[in-house]
Amino acid sequence: VGSLAIPAAGRPAPQGEPQDPAKALRDLRREQRSATPPGEAEISARLTDVGVRYLETGHVAPAIELLSEAVSRDPDNGVALASLTLAYVKHGDVEFAEFYLDLARQVARRKNPDPAVYVALGDVYEAQNRPEDALAAWEQARTLGDASVELLRKIARAQSDWAFSHGQKYFSGSRFEFFFDPSISESLVRMLDEFLERASVEEARFFMRELASDQVVIVYGGRRYFEFSETPDWVGGFYDGKIRLPLEAGSEPSEALFGLLRHELAHAYLREISGRRAPSWLQEGLAQYVGGRRVDPAFVEPFLSNMPADFLENSEGFFRQRTDREQARAAYALSLSFIQFLSARGGPGSVVCLAEELGQGRTLRESFLDLYRDTPASIEAAWRADLARLAPPKKKKKK
Ligand SMILES: [Zn+2]
Repeated sequence: VGSLAIPAAGRPAPQGEPQDPAKALRDLRREQRSATPPGEAEISARLTDVGVRYLETGHVAPAIELLSEAVSRDPDNGVALASLTLAYVKHGDVEFAEFYLDLARQVARRKNPDPAVYVALGDVYEAQNRPEDALAAWEQARTLGDASVELLRKIARAQSDWAFSHGQKYFSGSRFEFFFDPSISESLVRMLDEFLERASVEEARFFMRELASDQVVIVYGGRRYFEFSETPDWVGGFYDGKIRLPLEAGSEPSEALFGLLRHELAHAYLREISGRRAPSWLQEGLAQYVGGRRVDPAFVEPFLSNMPADFLENSEGFFRQRTDREQARAAYALSLSFIQFLSARGGPGSVVCLAEELGQGRTLRESFLDLYRDTPASIEAAWRADLARLAPPKKKKKK
């Protein structure tokens, strides 16, 4: 561990500046006592410079003291946080290091250090046989912009080790990473990967954007996981930031499976486009649409009797996992029907724009007025009228 090169976390010292950290610290303390002391952020940055210099020269104890002060003066100082994590690792205080690593990963948009700090940190953890911490540090380096092949290899190797130690197998394609039960054959997983690669080209075109990060796909042998999560048995898959698929051992690729993959992949795009602001009818309706499913509007109307009068406003709960089967089925069919209706009106691209506008913080009403020149309530009324018109004539029931 001691022989690992650890790069400096801070900015390089300006050229020509004396490298004596003790003097830089004395100067700073004097200025702090003066009539016009520097602001907290500047004090924090200068303490970080001094702390990093101590760390580089092996003076770990003063480095920890100064970097801790830098973090407490400016909690957004990511350079100080990263350097402090390194200092604790060098000092052998793994628990403290973990604490600061966690903190560094939680807060986005702070002033960030060179990703190399996290690469080095991951290397240290790996040498200590702490694969999960190593993985966390390397993932952080990737988040901070290190897109090098060496780093991707380190991450893939660590994930593969992790999967192995947890009884799963691991396969990494170029854009999709798979964790799968040993009962699932690797050749099937490779086919899923090829299919998803092709589907992601089509869906990038449909959604008018690329996915920002690789997607993790977890393939379960059988439905055990889904029983635990109380997903209804007719739901084929699940997306919660990862694509989760239950497959029976010996499954063959089929059109139904490909439709399911397109559906779950669409959720990944929708999450990126709309954050979590799109209502379920939009997410599930559009995911089904992209999955290739269509409903015949002539047969949709009876489902309306299972739903509240204002479907767009009040259907949210009916998509949830624990609702009863008939209502959930009705909600899925109606959401698809409504997406078909919107697509016929404004083109499928208009529905993508709708998700995008919601993601930008617009209300449903604002987005509808912008895209369909009408309110959600009156578009819903037009859709219902359409379904009623197309429905086969009913036999009158006697009361
Ligand atoms: Zn779905």
